[in-house]
Amino acid sequence: MHDHRRLGRELELFDTDPLMGAGLPYWLPDGAVVRHELEEYVREVERAAGYRHVYSPVLGKRKLYETSGHWSHYSDDMFPPMPLGAEEVVLRPSLCPHHALIYRSRSHSYRELPLRMAELGDMYRSELWGALGGLTRVRAIRLNDAHIFCTLEQAAEEARAALELIGRAYADLGIRAARYRLSLPGEGGKYVADPELWRRATALLREALDGIEYEAVEGEAAFYGPKIDVQITDPVGRESTLSTVQIDFHQPERFDLHYIGPDGAKHRPVMVHRSVIGSVERAVAHLIETHGGAFPAWLAPVQLIVLPVADAQVEQAAEVVRRACALGLRAELAAPADGSLGARIRAARLVPYQAVIGEREAGGDLAAVRLRDGRRPGALPVVELLHRIGERVRARGAELWAAA
Ligand SMILES: [Zn+2]
Repeated sequence: MHDHRRLGRELELFDTDPLMGAGLPYWLPDGAVVRHELEEYVREVERAAGYRHVYSPVLGKRKLYETSGHWSHYSDDMFPPMPLGAEEVVLRPSLCPHHALIYRSRSHSYRELPLRMAELGDMYRSELWGALGGLTRVRAIRLNDAHIFCTLEQAAEEARAALELIGRAYADLGIRAARYRLSLPGEGGKYVADPELWRRATALLREALDGIEYEAVEGEAAFYGPKIDVQITDPVGRESTLSTVQIDFHQPERFDLHYIGPDGAKHRPVMVHRSVIGSVERAVAHLIETHGGAFPAWLAPVQLIVLPVADAQVEQAAEVVRRACALGLRAELAAPADGSLGARIRAARLVPYQAVIGEREAGGDLAAVRLRDGRRPGALPVVELLHRIGERVRARGAELWAAA
């Protein structure tokens, strides 16, 4: 594995500027491609799993976080409030309160449950300066978040389905879970006091974890409830949390959420909080480290590099690039002016597909294909090459070349 901070700079994926501020990385075009593809992937698997997406603002009134309990239990991690006329607004430390209000804005029948509300939204954490680094400890976070509003009877099954979604995404992305952790409250006043609520939520999470090996750890719960943390490790073996599933009785209470049951009466829903890839920053950091910058084809900033052998084939090669781009692929030309063919091939070593065009290939609308892993499928008609790359990219698999 590799250090994502070094690779991120070398590959020009992201960077920071002291004038923007520590812990506030910006994304360069190649990094932005990886992030965009990852976000689209998440939206797609969520849509397929029955989630509907919303957008909500990154600011909220101080009163909102007093209602949610963040103000009294979590303010150490929040930015100071900003005065705005007679009010105060806060950069949000989580998306939950906004989603609770969106749920509350309409009346809901039990027939609509489970109601799965998802958002890739920004949130802020006032991390201490000394703790900041790369993409893993940042002050501005793009969170892959969702809240499932459901009945008590549905909660364990929804938590279970969220764990399955996490497992599927990890398989697609080549991420390995180091371990599953059931995070319980510890000593101190950080947690809301309601022993019965903690007991019930913990029992439901244990039910969702049935058949999965996990470790229960005290002191790592959210302030409003226990959670399942899916842990990953970095190159030096340091563990961190990527994905989470939580069961929450507290916020539905605080926001007075309800649904109309079959009996025509109001009932309190349960909130299941879950994140499939956690923060986009941490997920990309982990992908950079896992793949050493050699991303699966569907995530790669450049998917195809076209290499004319000599100046005489530059026009033909540029045409291949145009055709690839027209098909939605990310292709670039590396012309002889950029160096010898060998040097250009080495410079493109992280690009999944290389198409070399010499005199023979140019004459027959062919390309000599080389894969990043060293395989050489040989000369193929350009139209077939582009079709095959397009298929691999759409399949979002790790395998670069499918057997014909
Ligand atoms: Zn939440």
